[in-house]
Amino acid sequence: MMNVQLLVSSLLEHAEKFFPKKEVISPMPSGIVRHTYAEIGKRTRQLSSALEKIGIQREDRVGTLAWNHNRHLEVYFAAPGMGAVLHTINIRLSPEHIVYIINHAEDKVLFIDEDILPLVELIKDHLKSVEAFVIMTDKEELPETTLEPVYSYEKLLQTGDEAYQFVKDIDENAPAGMCYTSATTGNPKGVVYSHRGIVLHSYALGLADTVGVSENDRVMPIVPMFHANAWGLPFAATWFGSTQVMPGPRFTPKILAQLIEEEKVTKTGGVPTICLALLKEWEEGNYDTSSLNAILCGGSAAPRGMIQTFEQKYNISFLHAYGMTETSPLATFSRLKSYQMDLSQEDKLDERAKQGILVPGLEFKVIDGQGEVEWDGKSMGELLIKGPWIADEYYKDERTKEAFQDGWLHTGDVVTIDEEGVIKILDRTKDLIKSGGEWISSVDLENALMAHEAVFEASVVAVPHAEWQERPVACVVLKDSYKDNVTKEDLLSFITPMFAKWWLPDDVVFMEEIPKTSVGKFLKRALREKLKDHFAAESL
Ligand code: ADP
Repeated sequence: MMNVQLLVSSLLEHAEKFFPKKEVISPMPSGIVRHTYAEIGKRTRQLSSALEKIGIQREDRVGTLAWNHNRHLEVYFAAPGMGAVLHTINIRLSPEHIVYIINHAEDKVLFIDEDILPLVELIKDHLKSVEAFVIMTDKEELPETTLEPVYSYEKLLQTGDEAYQFVKDIDENAPAGMCYTSATTGNPKGVVYSHRGIVLHSYALGLADTVGVSENDRVMPIVPMFHANAWGLPFAATWFGSTQVMPGPRFTPKILAQLIEEEKVTKTGGVPTICLALLKEWEEGNYDTSSLNAILCGGSAAPRGMIQTFEQKYNISFLHAYGMTETSPLATFSRLKSYQMDLSQEDKLDERAKQGILVPGLEFKVIDGQGEVEWDGKSMGELLIKGPWIADEYYKDERTKEAFQDGWLHTGDVVTIDEEGVIKILDRTKDLIKSGGEWISSVDLENALMAHEAVFEASVVAVPHAEWQERPVACVVLKDSYKDNVTKEDLLSFITPMFAKWWLPDDVVFMEEIPKTSVGKFLKRALREKLKDHFAAESL
């Protein structure tokens, strides 16, 4: 067969050729803007050409500090299209980490949304490699800024050639993208995506038994474009000619619910906390959700009760997936097999709450100290993955040695695997609770608590304990209407039948809010810190 290089620019070229009339919709401060793929194609070519003119060279890193909208999509294709590397930066990280990331990646130019300008002004004197700033503003004139040299996105675009030809003499294994994942301790770790990895991962998103992104979809990626490339949705949706509905800068659950209704979104995707926020908005408001046929959810375990509400109350397929920044991210996908359709509703939900089977194209194994664990749904081990869209190192980082060994990515996730090959994540290695020499899965306890009708969010963490080493303590946010009439005893007796006695949390602490990470996951580190003296204080 022909050895054709798989390049990111070919995804956009396909959309330009075959879907020129389909649209990308972005709610911007000046109002909703609509661009066809024909227009996006021209604007992207102009941008690639303009980047060359300001001195960006092949393999230079092009940083973005931006929300989800058409301009960000244009940079997604313009940077790799001229041989440079798209580097999406998580705007929710601390300023120190953002400085580290930009310096470590040696970004040459930064594309910045107007509302993120104050942050960049704050850190600008610490940036060592940046030679130009581009502000992605809707306005004619640049906002007042001390950044230098600074360009307005639209004016920069005008200096470029709309007939620019994307460079084709690129090795498919060359870097096309880059994203840093937060580490529990220490600095964020850089993951580099190759052209080939992005193209193959986009195929994976189109499979009927995974997300099935297709031309007739109107896709809204709620997951930010700075979080593992919005799970690759912008690449796949462009390639397959889907309409894209971007949430735009500083979206709220209300904006999301309105966009779903008004723009007739068919597929959306985000982490469980945002899915919960969306459900809350739907419960409180009066929205038409009938266009939405599927919600893709991953990033942390999807509570069973949430899956049930989406599917049974709203008739929306809940697509539960698992992955990491290091895995592009789609790695496993939860769908019932054809012969499981006559399972009871309860059993079906249990299955759907697991993380599913491996996406075709990847390999995996689950190991403990002795070797590969049995496929019995009980034996626990660490999940290892390899494949063409799995990273093989952290960019210029010593921590590569721990996570990548013998050609496998060691995910740091502790799982079981059953007879069907379905994996179930019990915890991240660091979040497992070690009580009296046995392991307790915080994820299982959280899911059970979140199935209670009064619970909005629940996070279970290990708290040091004099006798048992660690014990689980549940942190719970109640729904407003239940705040005065649900006790910790109610919650504990609700989950008691589901677990062995020693698994049950020793305490339930009610909170107004659970702290979240920069990508919307429960910040267990902060909870552990907050509760570390819990038992000592109790015994006083
Ligand atoms: P960060 O490390 O910044 O949270 P990632 O998004 O790369 O960034 O996190 C990947 C981790 O998220 C996985 O290793 C796993 O622990 C968790 N995760 C992802 N998807 C799921 C899921 N469906 N169920 C449970 N945990 C998940």
